[in-house]
Amino acid sequence: MGYKQCLHTHSIFCDGKDSLEEMVLTAIDKGFDSIGFSGHSYMDIYSEFSMDDEKAAAYKAEIARLQQVYGDKIKIYCGLEKDNYTKVSTAGYDYLIGSVHCLQYGDQLVFVDWTAEKSWDAIRNIFGGDGLAYAEAYFDAVADLPNHGSFDILGHMDLVTKFIEKYPDMFDMDHPRYRAAATKAAESLVGKVKYFEVNTGAISRGYRTTPYPAPFIIEEMKRLGFGAIISSDCHDRNFLDCAYEEAKQLLKAAGYTEHYVLKEEGFVAIPLED
Ligand SMILES: [Zn+2]
Ligand SMILES: [Zn+2]
Repeated sequence: MGYKQCLHTHSIFCDGKDSLEEMVLTAIDKGFDSIGFSGHSYMDIYSEFSMDDEKAAAYKAEIARLQQVYGDKIKIYCGLEKDNYTKVSTAGYDYLIGSVHCLQYGDQLVFVDWTAEKSWDAIRNIFGGDGLAYAEAYFDAVADLPNHGSFDILGHMDLVTKFIEKYPDMFDMDHPRYRAAATKAAESLVGKVKYFEVNTGAISRGYRTTPYPAPFIIEEMKRLGFGAIISSDCHDRNFLDCAYEEAKQLLKAAGYTEHYVLKEEGFVAIPLED
């Protein structure tokens, strides 16, 4: 049966729907071997959906309590999804996911993870209508992540495509400029971040029908030697294992034979066939 895990999960401590305990109980029900929580690091622009120091301390304490109560049934890890935009303490976490949800461009903030309207606003008002320039700025911020922390996992590598299925004219993912920007970001992260995720979160939330990142990026990640991690970026416990099989198929199609999970001894490769 392999090893079932999700390291990218959100709860009511940030922008998820469920308590940590509800998610642990669901993970046990769904036969997960382990679950890791990855609350959002504090951002002033998303203050109610992210964790300030006080919230982060309560989050850590609750995860420790749940491990005491349910430790014989499931292993629970305490992680953080940290944005490049924020400066918070990363001490006391088992692992870190590095993600770009918004980026500083000159003196402006560019949102890629809010609403399609916010993305269009940025394309029109900041990038003069050039959607590819918007995507290029996003990938530059992804490449800059290692300057903001020491991350284990690169989160949703091409989040900039969140609204592309509904708005295909936002930019052309087949354009050489787009492909070059994504590839350049991937190449710049070699040796700095070991793992990337195949993230199914936008499927359960109704934004997309396929996981992040696009197949050509998964192929590039394989070529460059990144390990793959499957996650559901869960904000609703009913979707904790959303599209895991599809994620495995995508990895296999790109030539991967294994994916990584976090265990006591660190990240461990598990055959995709299991
Ligand atoms: Zn994220
Ligand atoms: Zn997330």
